[in-house]
Amino acid sequence: MMEQKVAIITGAGSGIGKATALRLAKSGAKVGLIDLHEGDAVAVKEDIEHQGGEAIVVQADVADSAVLEKAIKRIVQRWERLDSVFVNAGINGRVAPIEDLSPEDWDQTLTMNLKSTFLTVKYAVPYLKEYGGSIVITSSINGNRTFTGFGMAAYSSSKAGQMAFGKMAALELAEYRIRVNIICPGAIQTNIGENTFTDEANLAKIRIPVVFPEGSQPLEHGAGKPEQVADLVHFLLSDEASHITGTEIFVDGAESLL
Ligand code: NAD
Repeated sequence: MMEQKVAIITGAGSGIGKATALRLAKSGAKVGLIDLHEGDAVAVKEDIEHQGGEAIVVQADVADSAVLEKAIKRIVQRWERLDSVFVNAGINGRVAPIEDLSPEDWDQTLTMNLKSTFLTVKYAVPYLKEYGGSIVITSSINGNRTFTGFGMAAYSSSKAGQMAFGKMAALELAEYRIRVNIICPGAIQTNIGENTFTDEANLAKIRIPVVFPEGSQPLEHGAGKPEQVADLVHFLLSDEASHITGTEIFVDGAESLL
């Protein structure tokens, strides 16, 4: 259970972040919701309050260092402590073969996914040090193996970088009793692919199966649900995972074994 705990969730307005915000609040945590899209995060806050929980929304771009630092500070000031951080905001970025990716495409994906992870941890650590705490970073199975198709070089690199960063952070922060774990979802039914797989000419080049064919995940016969990821994040952030740090855990219905 997460009673008395204060949690920050980035990318809390949709998909995995939203499901986790609801899960943590149900477990008693007070949740600070950070998202680029304020309206989506406000809708999550209303859902949480409807189920009797407490939440606040701070609109912020997690890739903007100064804005993010202030957003984290505002949430901590609200409840005067911080225990848990779910570093989750991310984008697919432009999906294209390497020769078609521009340096700007590369920078955007690496900044939004990897630099933002560093920034979120950096600005949360001073507060987490006070009582110890727990951080979970959303990487992907694509950080650990090649995607079933082409065009994800920037995304996969950013997700592999998150794994390396998370392990270094686990080592460095252990003396403060701050745990850091990395989760690697397979395909999950969220909005992340909404604007990714739209260009027909590009689709032919990248050869990614856009819909989740039956059997693409042996356990689910399709894609997983955000709530299934949220249950794992809840466990890792809770005291039940008190001796687990520096791990990467797959939540992919065995997709990575295919
Ligand atoms: P989603 O698009 O449904 O939700 C992502 C949320 O992050 C959105 O609300 C968006 O507004 C927010 N966001 C994006 N960039 C932001 C920024 N710069 N600042 C603040 N907020 C920002 O996607 P999702 O699938 O829930 O993705 C969550 C995480 O899960 C991502 O890191 C993604 O890479 C990872 N992931 C997703 C899948 C999948 O199949 N859905 C698989 C593996 C990993």
